Amino acid sequence: MERPRITIFDTTLRDGEQSPGCSMNVQEKLRLAQQLDRLGVDVIEAGFPIASDGDFEAVQSIAASLRRPIIAGLARACTGDVDRAWQALQGAARPRIHVFLATSDIHLKYKLRITREKCLEQARDAVRHAKSLCPDVEFSPEDATRTDVAFLCQVVEAAIAAGATTVNIPDTVGYSMPEEYGNLIRTLREKVAGIDKVTISTHCHNDLGLAVANSLAGVQAGARQVECAINGIGERAGNASLEEIVMAMRVRPDRYPYETAIAGEHLYPSSQMLAEITRVPVQPNKAIIGRNAFAHEAGIHQDGMLKNPLTYEIMTPQSVGVPDSRLVLGKHSGRHALALRCEQLGHQFERRELDEIYRRFVVLADRIKKVQDSHLLELIQDVASGNVSSSDVTGSKGKRFPPAAATLQFPRAVSAAAGANASDSHPAQVSGSAGQASVSIPFTDHHSEQEDYLWGV
Ligand SMILES: [Zn+2]
Repeated sequence: MERPRITIFDTTLRDGEQSPGCSMNVQEKLRLAQQLDRLGVDVIEAGFPIASDGDFEAVQSIAASLRRPIIAGLARACTGDVDRAWQALQGAARPRIHVFLATSDIHLKYKLRITREKCLEQARDAVRHAKSLCPDVEFSPEDATRTDVAFLCQVVEAAIAAGATTVNIPDTVGYSMPEEYGNLIRTLREKVAGIDKVTISTHCHNDLGLAVANSLAGVQAGARQVECAINGIGERAGNASLEEIVMAMRVRPDRYPYETAIAGEHLYPSSQMLAEITRVPVQPNKAIIGRNAFAHEAGIHQDGMLKNPLTYEIMTPQSVGVPDSRLVLGKHSGRHALALRCEQLGHQFERRELDEIYRRFVVLADRIKKVQDSHLLELIQDVASGNVSSSDVTGSKGKRFPPAAATLQFPRAVSAAAGANASDSHPAQVSGSAGQASVSIPFTDHHSEQEDYLWGV
């Protein structure tokens, strides 16, 4: 059975850019938009043209330079905004006008100071006007999750009747719970006339850390577009994180049997580019693309990883574009991991040599948190010039510690080299070949398995 296709609507350049410290100039936005195109997003919300001349220009230049993705421009529900958005989108191959209007009583009363009747009329008029200019119109009832449900149904129905082709249901303040959000989407599908002919979209904020969970609940309830941002940037606590949404569906197709057009190997580079442009760093433990997302320090974890990555890895770093799993060497590391790192640095040791290096490594790791390659090289030099005599050292050509003859590889690296699907993102479901590929353990007189990580427990 074919899996339903989910449209990935990226709002990094609009909602994302609204987050403190994340403003970008036109050139930076264009560069990021080109990366989003490589990443394979379906829709790029390029900006809010009436908000500033810079935003207008950014939408205009992105619309003119990218032909594949739909380019959306945001507009409040009034003629001036819609016209300005349409003007910015003139050069687009696939333009979309995104009209929004708050619908919750609290927004109507205190922010807009209009009645529900006026709100309904304004939404209908703005969508109708947008539709007269552009065939692709999205409508968002802002603060939908705090809107009276019967009234929300009424507004959405009016927007569809006026020509909206996508209706987006924003959890603007990040207040919803997953079950609740899913139920809201179900209710709309049951009660709104014509909703089966349009695409339902999610737009969830992360104020309670539930943006991704809410978006996925929305998809399970029938939404077919997800609005999200790279690194989860956005107003306040941010938007649903694009990389988390995509990988949740890819790693767990048993629970989320949906497809996206995202090229996984561009996730990490996109995240890095955004962080570099905005100079807003990614938190180290951020899922999927954080510095530590694929790092294993505890000895027992490292040992398991070396024997078979499936022990602690539910997706490969390569599947999201991270160059390789980095085993962080710290005081909890075992000698197996240390030997591998030494090999990667071009040094192969006999058991006795390794014992000495390991002894010194543990002392060093106790002093400094993280042992870098440079520290390790220094330590190797120390051992080489001190306690180990040249006759004990294997190799020739005047080098005391010659480069390893063969580099130790993780099983997946072996399978990648053999032409297997390196971007396979469901390793947990792979049985046999990839996980079973041979690993050359660098110890001939390998001691007890336990000893490898006794130090780290
Ligand atoms: Zn938002």
